[in-house]
Amino acid sequence: MTNITIAKGDGIGPEIMDATIKIIMAAGADISIDEIEVGEKVYLAGNLAGIAKESWDIIRRNKIFLKAPITTPQGGGYKSLNVTTRKFLGLYSNVRPCMSLHPFVKTKHPDMDIVIIRENEEDLYAGIEHQQTDEVVQCLKLISRPGCEKIVRYAFEYAKQYGRKKVTCFTKDNIMKQTDGLFHQVFDEIASEYPGIENEHWIIDIGAAKMADTPEIFDVIVMPNLYGDVLSDVAAQITGSVGLAGSANIGEQCAMFEAIHGSAPRRANQDLANPSGLLQGAVMMLNHIGQGAIAEKVQNAWLKTLEDGIHTYDIYNEGISKLLVGTKAFAEAVINNLGQKPALLKPVQFDKNSALVLPTYKRQKPKNKELNGVDVFVHWSGSNPDELAAVINQLNSADAELTMITNRGIKVWPEGFEETFCTDHWRCRFKPVNGNAFNKTHIIELLGNAIDKNIDTIKTENLYSFDGKPAFSLGQGQ
Ligand code: NAD
Repeated sequence: MTNITIAKGDGIGPEIMDATIKIIMAAGADISIDEIEVGEKVYLAGNLAGIAKESWDIIRRNKIFLKAPITTPQGGGYKSLNVTTRKFLGLYSNVRPCMSLHPFVKTKHPDMDIVIIRENEEDLYAGIEHQQTDEVVQCLKLISRPGCEKIVRYAFEYAKQYGRKKVTCFTKDNIMKQTDGLFHQVFDEIASEYPGIENEHWIIDIGAAKMADTPEIFDVIVMPNLYGDVLSDVAAQITGSVGLAGSANIGEQCAMFEAIHGSAPRRANQDLANPSGLLQGAVMMLNHIGQGAIAEKVQNAWLKTLEDGIHTYDIYNEGISKLLVGTKAFAEAVINNLGQKPALLKPVQFDKNSALVLPTYKRQKPKNKELNGVDVFVHWSGSNPDELAAVINQLNSADAELTMITNRGIKVWPEGFEETFCTDHWRCRFKPVNGNAFNKTHIIELLGNAIDKNIDTIKTENLYSFDGKPAFSLGQGQ
């Protein structure tokens, strides 16, 4: 018996949750349920997070959370409960199966059956943003080795568990050699531990284009947070059935399962809504807690129901659909089909599945880290880089000297192009003179001199090498 927490949410949430629970209980799910209140009512009672402390206690105790969609009130500083839950509970893996249900749901891609596995905690979503000059703002893209290892390993273990043949990695490491480069490198390392599963890497631009055009060539796709956010919606959309998709957010200790659609308030309380998205979330939940046989029974009955043409209004299609039903009747039809398999759609086989257990991350031996210089970022409103170089060269000392200036990453000094457009945000790279030793005292001296010379330094980035290998990007054109 597994204890789970449910939240019925807002809008159509209570109706689709009731239908979902009824179906999985009829299938024999071995669960006990604690219900909590989240969402609109909690927000409007003045709780900006949309969830009470006692509810967190229940979620953390049970560890498994099935959540119906909620309505986040507009304005007023309300925090998205989804984002908070993911971050607080360390739900690093977002799993979204995207499969077409042709011919029962219209799609241009009848043979599509892919699973997007998106890193869920880091990348540009750390939310570390700063305005630095009048013209320039920045957002830090943080990628960590544990973050990469956990998500990539999850993708391969998922593929192994679900009999998937191939894991594809999407990054843009031809441009972001450090951040996306690390993701790709870890992918290659971990892929080599799974010789039975094919692996490949695509640069995200052409990979995304190919996925939108010929999704049937992909199986499991793993990627960093931002790309995954965008492409998991594209993938769900092109199956033709965004309203039927579920998603799982998996952490080392806790997991949350949901539908990908929202609370559809205009459809609430009319027995109209399609419970399929949340049911798909519940199927993933049953698999996650090791009740694969029940998950299989539910999934095959659901596929059979769609195949029988028993459809809610959102997928009802003259000519293909046979019977227009509401939420309750749809749930009854799925329950009546428990134990049956679809004939045309491919039945699933989950009965041998056990809960996925992943090894915990082990920190590697620290590398030999050396300071090789510093990038000093400067706010300067001139336009001629040679003039700026003359100003910055005043900071040169016996220990450190200016070697390069870039603007938005492009080298503008020495020997820049006059065509290059420049903003008021400049990176000035200082390296030790004659390869002499360089330490943080030199950086402090540099910054002290900059104050004396009235130079507006906005930040510094240390230039390190790890085990003798430079670990920072060159200027474009350097
Ligand atoms: P939505 O997904 O609620 O609705 C989009 C369209 O799809 C509507 O026409 C709706 O009627 C239809 N639809 C959605 N789910 C359906 C279902 N199960 N059955 C039948 N029809 C369905 O998106 P929205 O209108 O942009 O957002 C409404 C609210 O949902 C907003 O407050 C938003 O913040 C919230 N939302 C919550 C979540 C979540 O909790 N995970 C996700 C997205 C949006």
